Amino acid sequence: MLEISVADYEAMRAHGEETYPHECCGILLGRTDVAAGNNEVTRIVRAGNTRTDSAHNRYHIAPEELIAAQREGREAGLDIVGFYHSHPDHPAQWSATDFAEAHWYGCSYVITAVEGGRAAATNSFRLTGADEETKGFKGEEIAIDVLGADGEVTGVLEMEGKTR
Ligand SMILES: [Zn+2]
Repeated sequence: MLEISVADYEAMRAHGEETYPHECCGILLGRTDVAAGNNEVTRIVRAGNTRTDSAHNRYHIAPEELIAAQREGREAGLDIVGFYHSHPDHPAQWSATDFAEAHWYGCSYVITAVEGGRAAATNSFRLTGADEETKGFKGEEIAIDVLGADGEVTGVLEMEGKTR
């Protein structure tokens, strides 16, 4: 399961609306609860889409942006737990390119469909396996948390299945 606050969830979706008709992309920082099998997002970092050849159906996070996000996370005691990007006028399902370019095992890959400039479905896929031979994408639920003033989870607003 992917756990994310309402604010981060909405910010991720808004990013896709802003960059429409191009893709947006970004990095999810947080912690992995290995026992529960959850990736908990506590911060999102926007990345520029450096793919200029066909930014409407491909995304790419520049290595320096990845390193900067890793450093920002480390200083706050956070890891990279996932990535997000948008699919302008395409379903929130991973593409062959998305799969080929996914290499962070255990991370959540979140895709938001943006239809006519409006964010529609958002789905998350966990990259399973340990190498190129065994890797796979597995749909996972997204728990959208309501946070209290102290940052503790006070409730779950909504639980998204992978078919919405
Ligand atoms: Zn994609």
